[in-house]
Amino acid sequence: MKIDIATLFPEMCENYFSQSVVGRARKKGIFEINCHNIRDYTTDKHNRVDDTPYSERQGMLMQAEPIYRCFEQVTNGKDKPHVIFMSPQGQVLTQKKCVELSKMENIFILCGHYEGVDQRVLDEIVDEEISIGDYVLTGGELGAMVLVDSVVRMLDGVLSKADCYEDESHFSGLLEYPQYTRPEEWHGKKVPEVLLSGHHANILKWRREQSLLVTAKKRPDMIDWDTLTDKEKELISMQT
Ligand code: SAM
Repeated sequence: MKIDIATLFPEMCENYFSQSVVGRARKKGIFEINCHNIRDYTTDKHNRVDDTPYSERQGMLMQAEPIYRCFEQVTNGKDKPHVIFMSPQGQVLTQKKCVELSKMENIFILCGHYEGVDQRVLDEIVDEEISIGDYVLTGGELGAMVLVDSVVRMLDGVLSKADCYEDESHFSGLLEYPQYTRPEEWHGKKVPEVLLSGHHANILKWRREQSLLVTAKKRPDMIDWDTLTDKEKELISMQT
């Protein structure tokens, strides 16, 4: 997978994508990511990238041309990538969307700043707008980092096994069951006995039940009652 990010603050993204799990996967060549400074694509001698909005609103707006030139030069006649504009007006990012994006070969992410971006370049190049939540950030960089992180961790070889993300919250529509590690007892609290039993089938059953209970308690809106067995419905009704 190849990801290009167009931003006014490439070092912000570059720093994040050089660290930890994502940084290691990038070094191994599991995916390629390039952060492009939109300012490098201006024709103006002061490298200007913004101007005042015609709507008489306060603040500055990113101009269309430097963004378009950046897009043109990065794609350089190759196949058009899937273009995402990070925006508070977009569809809110979900695990389902991350799975969909993780199957793409080439993604181009545009980060806005200031009051936003001239609508004309959005109309010209953008395939979809994605938001990371219903609030307004100063710029799209944090959103791009969130999006890339949640997408690339599902690429083969980034985590040790697919189970690592398939068992996690949201992947299957439920939240993850509680997790425990050594010691077996801490502050008088014991690890549930079934987890020490080594009985694989019972552990799987416990995980499913706990996922249902945690989800019903913390995010009841996520429970799809039509997909549950009668026993599972009863378990939830009794314990929540
Ligand atoms: N004036 C715009 C509006 O009301 O829709 C908001 C502009 S915001 C201050 C500047 C930039 O931050 C946006 O162009 C976008 O790229 C990014 N941004 C802000 N909030 C975001 C969010 N919730 N998700 C993703 N990107 C966001």
